[in-house]
Amino acid sequence: MSGLLSQSMTMCLQSSFIPMETIEQISDEIIQCRLCPRLVEWRERIGSEKRRAFANEEYWARPVPYFGDPNALHLIVGLAPAAHGANRTGRMFTGDRSGDWLFAALFRAGVANQPTSVQRGDGLTLSGVLMAATCHCAPPDNKPSLDELRECNRYLTRILSNRDWKSVLCLGSIAWNNVHRTLGIRIEKFGHGAVHQPTNRPRLVASYHPSQQNTFTGKLTEPMLDAAIAQWLVG
Ligand code: SF4
Repeated sequence: MSGLLSQSMTMCLQSSFIPMETIEQISDEIIQCRLCPRLVEWRERIGSEKRRAFANEEYWARPVPYFGDPNALHLIVGLAPAAHGANRTGRMFTGDRSGDWLFAALFRAGVANQPTSVQRGDGLTLSGVLMAATCHCAPPDNKPSLDELRECNRYLTRILSNRDWKSVLCLGSIAWNNVHRTLGIRIEKFGHGAVHQPTNRPRLVASYHPSQQNTFTGKLTEPMLDAAIAQWLVG
């Protein structure tokens, strides 16, 4: 698959910016996707059982599509929707603590128009930035299986080859490794703030994922996240 992708990437990179398909087209397919039985069962069960605090809300309970500027040249790749976050609200990083951290940082960097992301329709917009994921469905324990990651790689492949991205911010080692594999390049060592500029490929920047596990423990601080975002937005 990486050979095919490399060919497709090369064709894309050699041409000027002419997206092969629109973000909306890929998003529409993602929303309908039911390829991973375990994740379909999980996302829908979470959506019907709900968390008590959200008992009166209608959960999205489907794959979560891209979010951001359809003309973006800077891409963020996260891991997967949170069960009661994006799986509830239907928008990436929306309605949970990870999103609180990430959107506040994007606001400080000047690419989000507000620092909070509560629900679809809250007025949040991104400028020059699009959000994607390695897995578009909420997985149990936030851990997609290798087979599920492989299955969902069809969408990561399509978004990475969609245009000449300037840079990709990879949130966590799974995103970092998968983006390298999908681009068909040797995987560089993951570490917060790592930067990899492969030939004829977007610049890759690594950040610890803004999960509560990292932010509550101080493994990821606001200055650290701001520094990674600044690296990602260079150029
Ligand atoms: S994880 Fe990806 S491939 Fe699997 S059902 Fe969800 S959208 Fe489809």
